[in-house]
Amino acid sequence: MATLNGNFSNLQAGYLFPEIAKRTSEFAAKNPDAKILRLGIGDTSEPLAPSVIARLRNAVDKMSKVETYSGYSDDSRGTPELREALAERYAAYGVELATDEIFVGDGAKSDSANIQSLFGGGNVVAVQDPAYPVYVDSNVIAGKAGAGSNGQYDGLVYMPCTEDNDFFPTLPSEKVDLIYLCSPNNPTGAAATLHQLKTFVDYARENRAVIIFDSAYASFISDPRLPRSIYEVEGAKECAIEINSFSKEAGFTGVRLGWTIVPRDLVCEDGAVGQLNGMWSRRQNTMFNGASIIVQAGGEAVLSEQGQAECKETIAYYMANARCIKDCIEGLGITCYGGVNAPYIWMKTPSGVTSWEFFDKLLGETHVVGTPGSGFGPGGEGYFRLSAFGHRKDIDRAVESIQKNLKL
Ligand SMILES: *Cc1c(COP(=O)(O)O)cnc(C)c1O
Repeated sequence: MATLNGNFSNLQAGYLFPEIAKRTSEFAAKNPDAKILRLGIGDTSEPLAPSVIARLRNAVDKMSKVETYSGYSDDSRGTPELREALAERYAAYGVELATDEIFVGDGAKSDSANIQSLFGGGNVVAVQDPAYPVYVDSNVIAGKAGAGSNGQYDGLVYMPCTEDNDFFPTLPSEKVDLIYLCSPNNPTGAAATLHQLKTFVDYARENRAVIIFDSAYASFISDPRLPRSIYEVEGAKECAIEINSFSKEAGFTGVRLGWTIVPRDLVCEDGAVGQLNGMWSRRQNTMFNGASIIVQAGGEAVLSEQGQAECKETIAYYMANARCIKDCIEGLGITCYGGVNAPYIWMKTPSGVTSWEFFDKLLGETHVVGTPGSGFGPGGEGYFRLSAFGHRKDIDRAVESIQKNLKL
């Protein structure tokens, strides 16, 4: 007799994006002439870089000939070329990594969901509030959290990210074991300083806790003083796993490629040097046969000099969108954050309305769709996320409509 994984019933409905879609289509049905302008999605919109396309085509061609065809990779961690190129990137940050500490995968979402399987059921999990939902949901499914109500789960520690702490959490007052941090942050757009990261690295080393650091937006950082990797903090290799992706940096959201660093030096309460690295390797060999060889060739092209130059142009394009949105919101006298080191603008809802009330108001008055902050956790209530991904002409139209039609 098969039975269900009861933890699934603890999950609260994946409410956010379905609810946005529902309200948007209801509005569109009632207002067939309205042109809906989307600043809601966290998805890239511009085409892949030409040098990346060339390498992807070449990798496909190789599959067509018996002499150059390849099947399974020798190593589920990724091609040596790609892992060496990633190690070189970290070396440019002053971080030395061995290639056997780098695990290429099919994206940051799956790795950030799967990584918790390295840790026992009794670990206390701490998350930023608001946060990207996968950290919470993966731990709920794994049974590392209890029942949920009002967008929160028992057994999880929520670390508020507010205006008062510059959207970077203060250390939890209770002892926690697994700490999820995301910087630059989705949804708040805040990017942590070296000093801010150091407070958590020091805490984790003292308490033998492990930080899971999501740096998916590292390449959007414009301030050269800000760290691109948590390993820029001394001692972080003992206590942090870093997860990153080609999705936002290179427009690979549909192509799928990411990587995770599990340092050899990483330890936990009962895990010696090398053990967690070995366990992740075992996990990937058992449950994952490696990322697509074709896509990994594309990833190598992203990391090449020309690929980097081309990807930086696209990032600059998105960040010019961000500036345009930010100027518009600030011009209306509304407080907003982010948009400088991340492609998200995190605005306070005007007149203290709730996130969902503002969603309806913005859609109704300006035909612009954004994302209610409360969908990212209770700490997001009273905020609203605008995304800078999108074509310039759509961003310009949205900004113009907000300036003209939003009633304040
Ligand atoms: C988009 C995003 C990712 C990327 O996920 P992929 O699975 O690599 O596409 C990871 N973390 C955050 C916070 C994101 O917003």
